[in-house]
Amino acid sequence: MSDRRDGTIVTTGLAATVPTTPAPVAETATAATAGPRLLAGGPIAAEIRAGLTADFAAFKERWGYVPTLAIVLVGADAPSAVYLGQILRTCEKVGVQGRLVEIGSDVTADALCNEIESLNADPAVAGIIVQMPLPAHVPLRTVIDSIDPAKDIDGIHPRNAGLLSLGYDGFLPATAQASVEILKRSGIEIAGKRVVVVGRSNVVGKPAALLLLREHGTISILHSKTRDLGHYTRDAEILIVAAGKPGLVTGEMLSPGVVVVDVGINVVPDGHGAERLVGDVDFESAQGVVSAITPVPGGVGPLTNALLLTHLLRAATDQAERGAATTGDAAR
Ligand code: NAD
Repeated sequence: MSDRRDGTIVTTGLAATVPTTPAPVAETATAATAGPRLLAGGPIAAEIRAGLTADFAAFKERWGYVPTLAIVLVGADAPSAVYLGQILRTCEKVGVQGRLVEIGSDVTADALCNEIESLNADPAVAGIIVQMPLPAHVPLRTVIDSIDPAKDIDGIHPRNAGLLSLGYDGFLPATAQASVEILKRSGIEIAGKRVVVVGRSNVVGKPAALLLLREHGTISILHSKTRDLGHYTRDAEILIVAAGKPGLVTGEMLSPGVVVVDVGINVVPDGHGAERLVGDVDFESAQGVVSAITPVPGGVGPLTNALLLTHLLRAATDQAERGAATTGDAAR
């Protein structure tokens, strides 16, 4: 699984304890007395969306059109469908045109790339995301390469990945960015901290590690071949977990006072014949040890879509300005 943002489909019922203005966290606080601070993404996302609504209205006023986000969905996939419903609703809320491009799972790589090329060439389309996973017969690399880097608002094209690794401006993978942004906007200091990232995927773990390095954390990256995960996680002052394994990290693998960002989104039986969403961290055993933790659902998930649409705004503005410069219409 490489790009499931279905955490965004559920709003949290947990207390939103993240203030809208960052406040410092007591680094040594344990949950024994007060319980951990819940780092909720919802309020931060709502703030970002409010700004975006105004910004997209100004864009329309300035340029005379509403930019489009194209979402390419190959084959029917239930979690993707729910996630896509959520992002399309977010588009509507902030005044963006969402366009779902549904393609049968028997599509050839060539036909899929042609479809993406036509979105690249469409001036109304400011951003393109391709929902993962793709069918096994479609080479991921070929598809990623076919996206115009200027419209690659989820930062999966090698050009954007390269810009991130060099520390230059490009489009960031939104989930990785959300996992760092939730710390920053919650007033949690990263510089100088021992930061441990579990997961090394191109869409979450690796870019999150690079962004945390940019914030001057001292980074360790763990992965499926790491021996004795707990040895490393116990050393963390900040722990980011993005493995897609429910309950991978338990309380006894954590040191008191650690700040945990749980990116994992896993659908598990709820014990009553239905399903529920859980993260990669066993919340029950972790909550007595951590000083702060992102809930699942309601943590990183809600922030991801909001950030993605900030990328869309930037892409649309860059493209409109470039177009105006080309046609000599810059003063319009
Ligand atoms: P992925 O399957 O592409 O990568 C998982 C990573 O975890 C790999 O690098 C692997 O080495 C590592 N890993 C797997 N098992 C491990 C183990 N036992 N010990 C240590 N490391 C292990 O997944 P992904 O796309 O990076 O997503 C990770 C998780 O984040 C998933 O649960 C996914 O649903 C979730 N996700 C959430 C959002 C969001 O918005 N909250 C967005 C995207 C993905």
